[in-house]
Amino acid sequence: MNNSIVFTNTLSIVVPCYNEEESVPLFYAETLKQERFFHEKGIEFEFVFVDDGSRDKTAQAVKTLRENDERVHLVSFSRNFGKESAIYAGLEKANGDVVVLMDADLQDPPALLPEMYSYIESGQDFVGTRRVDRKGEPPIRSWFARRFYGLMRNISKTDIVDGARDYRMMTRKVCDAILSMKEYNRFSKGIFGWVGFDTKWIEYENIKRAAGETKWSFRKLFLYSLEGIMAFSTMPLTLSFFFGMLFCVLALALLIFIIVRTAAFGDAFAGVPLVICAVLFVGGIQLLCIGILGSYLSKTYLEVKQRPIYIVKEEF
Ligand code: UDP
Ligand code: MG
Repeated sequence: MNNSIVFTNTLSIVVPCYNEEESVPLFYAETLKQERFFHEKGIEFEFVFVDDGSRDKTAQAVKTLRENDERVHLVSFSRNFGKESAIYAGLEKANGDVVVLMDADLQDPPALLPEMYSYIESGQDFVGTRRVDRKGEPPIRSWFARRFYGLMRNISKTDIVDGARDYRMMTRKVCDAILSMKEYNRFSKGIFGWVGFDTKWIEYENIKRAAGETKWSFRKLFLYSLEGIMAFSTMPLTLSFFFGMLFCVLALALLIFIIVRTAAFGDAFAGVPLVICAVLFVGGIQLLCIGILGSYLSKTYLEVKQRPIYIVKEEF
């Protein structure tokens, strides 16, 4: 069922929501405050809320909005598929010539919309936002986040920007480019960089959530970062290859050393502890490398199955 209305000059606002029943009405009201600027240009809003299998009444909250506003659309998932899947579904549903991705919790200030749009108007295809600080975030989390971005810059060819939010405005061209990436393991920050296009960055200070709480535990973020590394870099595989080479050379050197020493001093068993340590160490490295290999293999396995990115329970 897809009975979305097609506007000619539409700004689609795509909002992934997971347990955001309190945020949805706040978000809607706050975003509508920006409508005047767009109306003056003859641009109509279109809201695409994606209910990512919420356990609260998020879908109901969207339906309530719909009663008074035909431009409100909903894609409701059969279970929680994750924000990445929600973004994909929302972009797919969006009809706009320009599409903007926003979080439901008002951490992506709607007040930036006119500024973002003005760049699109002047010919920019992609406008992104960056937080210039990480205020209100646990310091340990910020530290790990910085290390992650540093590492990503070094090991991946894709441009992944520190502090970049998923709050992005894009033209239809960019939206279609993102939709053409149908991979199952989705790492949006990487996907946005991968599709290319010049991106204009707007910076702003971190804002606290309007209501509800963050869905990201430290554990979830850590696993997500590993996912990102594997989705956009094969450096870990190259590293295991390098380890293999290194240890071959070391083993050869040790062998020559032992042969020469035995020939010179005659005691073939001296240095056994050293050999045991070396065997254990190399064994450990081998297991690690097999683990890395296995991780890529499992990702490939999931990709090959070609499962859908999300399953819809209800939409309008
Ligand atoms: N979100 C989602 N599915 C999830 C987790 C989060 O759709 O499994 C949505 C959430 O409702 C919010 C946005 O993604 O609109 C960002 O989530 P959150 O605010 O928890 O992340 P943070 O801002 O703390 O990084
Ligand atoms: Mg948030």
